Amino acid sequence: MIDISHQQEQFEVVPTLVPPTLVEVLKSRVKASLIREAQLPQIHTLPIEYMLQARLASFDAQSDDAEVDNAFYVADLGEVYRQHLRWKFLLPRIEPFFAMKCNPDPMVMRLLASLGAGFDCASKNEIQSVLEMGVEPSRIIYANPCKQNSFVKFAYNNKVRMMTFDNAEELYKIKRFHPDAQLVLRILTDDSKSLCKLGLKFGAPLDTTGFLLATAQDLGLNVIGVSFHVGSGCFDANAFGEAVIRARRVFDQARNYGYEFNFLDVGGGFPSAHVTEGITFEKVIARRTIHRDRTEVLSQEQTLSPSHMYYINDGMYGSFNCIMFDHQICEPKVLLKDGAFTYQQSLLEIPHGYASVWGPTCDSIDCISAKSCLPLMESGDWLYFDNMGAYTITAASQFNGFRKSEILYTTTEPEVSLHF
Ligand SMILES: *Cc1c(COP(=O)(O)O)cnc(C)c1O
Repeated sequence: MIDISHQQEQFEVVPTLVPPTLVEVLKSRVKASLIREAQLPQIHTLPIEYMLQARLASFDAQSDDAEVDNAFYVADLGEVYRQHLRWKFLLPRIEPFFAMKCNPDPMVMRLLASLGAGFDCASKNEIQSVLEMGVEPSRIIYANPCKQNSFVKFAYNNKVRMMTFDNAEELYKIKRFHPDAQLVLRILTDDSKSLCKLGLKFGAPLDTTGFLLATAQDLGLNVIGVSFHVGSGCFDANAFGEAVIRARRVFDQARNYGYEFNFLDVGGGFPSAHVTEGITFEKVIARRTIHRDRTEVLSQEQTLSPSHMYYINDGMYGSFNCIMFDHQICEPKVLLKDGAFTYQQSLLEIPHGYASVWGPTCDSIDCISAKSCLPLMESGDWLYFDNMGAYTITAASQFNGFRKSEILYTTTEPEVSLHF
């Protein structure tokens, strides 16, 4: 809890702590965006709070420059670093392979490459950008069960050997273009307990795995193991255990076809670091389940209808595409109100009402939050959203002429700087 009586003091003290040079740097970055493309962006080592404040302070209200009121990100590379260490600590026997589709940010990718992570790629371009960072081809898995011929040839020419399949046509294709590939059989699992159901598209049902293994054997291909994906945003930890049991059956079955499997790709769907209810990452590991009943809370709230509509400078076609694609819920919080910086502060003393929050495009689907509890906001005030890393800017489009949001990098873990 924040002690309200101390808030005023904080507003006055904190701005003087932001190094004036940072404000200058940010001001010049807006103007020098072309030069910036060619260089690695600067990584600051300031708390997120200071980064946000410095960015707001760099705005020149008198300027007509439209750039200054664009939405922006503050990316904490320290968070990526902590997540990597957490994985290594909790799952020491599982090598992390970063699914780059979730956030191919060059700084995130470089940090993970430097930390020794592998990469899960789905296309030629993804493989190419990982190789260009100097990552060994053996640290890449081409985890798309249905690949283009030319992409398979590309993998062959670049010595990327690990790849997945879930159908016989793919085996004939691989025989032709990459006969010494290390194949991983993607099996179908129960994805009914996940927000994004991937089973609609990929995964061999267990009654077909015998036929697929026989075909691979006939073709003289090397199958090394099994992969599954319980679906992104998994909310039932049992799904992982059940998937491992299924995989085990295919391991046993493979012996009949002369294969000795030694590889299991456990896919994704793990909850993020900030999940504190439902299943957390630690609970997944322990395979415990806690049921969460959200329907009750929602139906009570529904009796109060939103009284204000706010339009902000990023939306469903930009960073918030995760709402539509990944069934995420993005809760707005107040960053700047009446000129006061309110990051992570409780504004309980200000009267709140229900409001809907909308993106900038002219499309009615561009609704970020149908109902949020917010104080009365004025034009020029700022909102912020926490945890907008995976599946956000990666799929943002420029629909209606709106640009992708700028990213400012900082790290709350000093060790990160050693990796650049
Ligand atoms: C997307 C993907 C992942 C990562 O999934 P998350 O739900 O983001 O953890 C892992 N493996 C494969 C094959 C994927 O396509």
